[in-house]
Amino acid sequence: MAEYTLQTAHLYGDLMNTYGDYGNIVALNFYAKQLGVAVETDMVSLGDDFDDTKYDFVLFGGGQDYEQMVVTKDLPSKAPAIKRYIEDGGTFLGVCGGFQLLGDYFVLADGTRVEGIKAMMHYTLNQPNGRFIGNVTIEDPTNGDIYHGFENHQGRTFLDDKERPLGMVKQGKGNNGEDGGEGLVYKNTYGTYFHGPILTRNGNLALRMLQKMLERRYPDVDWASRVSEIEPEFY
Ligand code: GLN
Repeated sequence: MAEYTLQTAHLYGDLMNTYGDYGNIVALNFYAKQLGVAVETDMVSLGDDFDDTKYDFVLFGGGQDYEQMVVTKDLPSKAPAIKRYIEDGGTFLGVCGGFQLLGDYFVLADGTRVEGIKAMMHYTLNQPNGRFIGNVTIEDPTNGDIYHGFENHQGRTFLDDKERPLGMVKQGKGNNGEDGGEGLVYKNTYGTYFHGPILTRNGNLALRMLQKMLERRYPDVDWASRVSEIEPEFY
């Protein structure tokens, strides 16, 4: 049995998992194993409780408008616990549709406004003609790291001033095709339009997130030096 264990939740993973977003958890597992850390994963979906004290990582993946509508009906029952988790510094990754639903509201391709859980106040407008589809490259302004991914979304997301973008677009459209930002960072919560999945393609980011989870769960261990010995993989 591993000495350390991280608990992860795949939020609505049976509905919101476009382009294999679950691969983000697989990537964490890959690096965690090298650190002697076990990763356990629960599917938390319609009708399930979300226990904010249990988890070290939550993945809320992408989905198309239809699945997002289904999920929106269930989300209010989990919203207070999700907000507590985020405010308490839990590590959270919202991808595409999941990123949109963490915010204030988003507008479907057909013009319907759907309420988000308002854990943060970014909002998402639709675009009358077309989608943003293609490869994206961004630069993380905090450390100069480059991340690669693939985007496919009609929504155009605008951040609140409490949120900063995960990176600045070097290639592709990013959040809205206007302000050069891609994704968001708020406390230890990340939003992104990147599929790929982002953590399999960008091992530097996966290791940074893993370190945060481990430091929060097991604060007496020098995770920074252990993590620095692991070689990140890039695809
Ligand atoms: N339905 C949303 C949009 O098109 C999200 C798409 C996705 O998660 N891939 O903006």
